[in-house]
Amino acid sequence: MGGGDAIAAPLSVEIEPVMGFFKGQCMGLASVKALFSQRPASFFNRAAGAWPKLAFCAQPTTTMFTATVEHAESLQKKAELKTQVVKALEAHLPSSMLLYHLEDTVPYECDGLTAYRERPLVVALPETEAQVAAVLRTCHALQVPVVARGAGTGLSGGAMPHALGVTMSLAKFNRILKVDPIGRTAVVQAGVRNLAISEAAAPHGLYYAPDPSSQIACTIGGNVAENSGGVHCLKYGLTVHNILKVRGYTMEGEAIEFGSGALDVPGLDLLSVVIGSEGMLAVVTEVTVKLVPKPQLARCIMASFDDVRKAGDAVAAVIAAGIIPAGLEMMDKPMTAAVEDYVHAGYDLTAEAILLCESDGTPEEVEEEIGRMSAVLRGCGATAITVSQDEAERLRFWSGRKNAFPASGRISPDYMCMDSTIPRKRLADILLAISQMEKKYQLRCCNVFHAGDGNLHPLILFDANDPDQLHRCELFGADILETSVAMGGTITGEHGVGVEKLNSMCVQFSAEENEAMFGLKRAFDPAGLLNPGKVIPTKNRCADYGKMLVRAGVIKHPELERF
Ligand SMILES: Cc1cc2nc3c(=O)[nH]c(=O)nc-3n(C[C@H](O)[C@H](O)[C@H](O)COP(=O)(O)OP(=O)(O)OC[C@H]3O[C@@H](n4cnc5c(N)ncnc54)[C@H](O)[C@@H]3O)c2cc1C
Repeated sequence: MGGGDAIAAPLSVEIEPVMGFFKGQCMGLASVKALFSQRPASFFNRAAGAWPKLAFCAQPTTTMFTATVEHAESLQKKAELKTQVVKALEAHLPSSMLLYHLEDTVPYECDGLTAYRERPLVVALPETEAQVAAVLRTCHALQVPVVARGAGTGLSGGAMPHALGVTMSLAKFNRILKVDPIGRTAVVQAGVRNLAISEAAAPHGLYYAPDPSSQIACTIGGNVAENSGGVHCLKYGLTVHNILKVRGYTMEGEAIEFGSGALDVPGLDLLSVVIGSEGMLAVVTEVTVKLVPKPQLARCIMASFDDVRKAGDAVAAVIAAGIIPAGLEMMDKPMTAAVEDYVHAGYDLTAEAILLCESDGTPEEVEEEIGRMSAVLRGCGATAITVSQDEAERLRFWSGRKNAFPASGRISPDYMCMDSTIPRKRLADILLAISQMEKKYQLRCCNVFHAGDGNLHPLILFDANDPDQLHRCELFGADILETSVAMGGTITGEHGVGVEKLNSMCVQFSAEENEAMFGLKRAFDPAGLLNPGKVIPTKNRCADYGKMLVRAGVIKHPELERF
């Protein structure tokens, strides 16, 4: 730490380091660039404006001193911009709704992807639509980026702030405006928690089906932005299948609505364009959701397998038998051990993999389906099958699965949750490939799957305070995503692209396809100020990453220099 102090001390500016380091402790962005100039390009280009937070400092050199002076100048400009933005926003929002001191903005520096952090210039906490519109209009006039934020549970860095931007928290948009039991809909503000919708609908025997494991905290606005899924989405669909209407504001502060109260809308269907757009097209303020009747009964099978291939094949066999379970999840042995130690759900610790397979409906439907599922699972080589006998036991079975992420947090300083999708029949292949990668990158990995959807969540365990481990973790994650694509899958499942998967987008999509996505963004946000630098990689970025999509052996854009 002494080196950092030596660099920072001679400069008489009020330093608020760009990278979120504590005052006077570490070098600035330009210095880190200089220091890391020997690293591969992919290391630097993980995200536009998103530099790694590295907990170390170095001895000062002449190059670094020059760089630090440049850094001080840029900090000065940043401080001036902040003063300008705060002054402009104070014309529309009371000062209690604006946070800009270091200690107030630090809590917003990352989302659930904690390895990447950035502090915003200002955090705005509007509570009316007029205030949302005013913040957007003001930022648009000043050409200042805006990043919308729900609960910050996202796992791909989607809500990570922009260093020269405003983070707009929708936390105060927390009212359930209407529950219509006859029409089976609810109108809620964007900051309402996912689970709060089902709680409000429960007295009418209804609930909101998509159930991300983060549902006690995550907001419906965040769910819309990420097109979130959950255990029950195999049978009931993702967010996109359970939303009727979205209201929000463009970057220019204009009100905009997608969808309608009915099942169809005149004109183009733009509802499914905004759902999953990761806060790049509009800030969502209000959502109309569909509600579904609570099933009379639900029961869950817990099946053990002595071989991951048999477990993977069993998943494909259940679906091939024409059964759509209410949930079909898989955990490998390391994951089972981690969650069992945490929640004591009664999982089989000897199994190489366990499946949780749920049926819901009337008691007769459930009994018949549980019988059919059990037969398929036995036929695929299940070594033990337990069926929940009451609601308490069913919830106990699920408690482990639902707590897989926090359980991983107990056994490792950090974990990075990857999220890709593969054809169901390749589940065993990817598990075996991941176990090889554990050896290659010298890091452990626990696996939990929305198996019925072929959606993987490998949790790579590492220590973010060790830059080398972070680097190996990133390479491991990229390898999983690229292997998923090679197996006929995709780099995203339900957690979005954010900053985490920008490079992997180059593997999935051609430059032309990425440009088409930029075109869509420009149609809504011509100035490119809403959540910029996320989701869609630039052509140069893909060239730097050295992984431009090659189709039929033809390398596109040979004019771009590759590293
Ligand atoms: C323990 C844990 C378990 C999880 N399990 C699941 C799971 O099972 N399934 C799943 O799909 N995800 C899961 N997630 C990921 C995460 O909870 C979801 O992506 C969720 O939808 C994010 O909601 P949020 O309110 O926290 O959004 P944030 O993290 O705040 O933001 C996410 C993105 O949405 C944008 N955004 C947020 N609000 C708005 C708005 N009002 N208007 C426009 N854009 C907005 C942000 O800019 C950002 O790009 C899990 C996360 C954790 C930590």
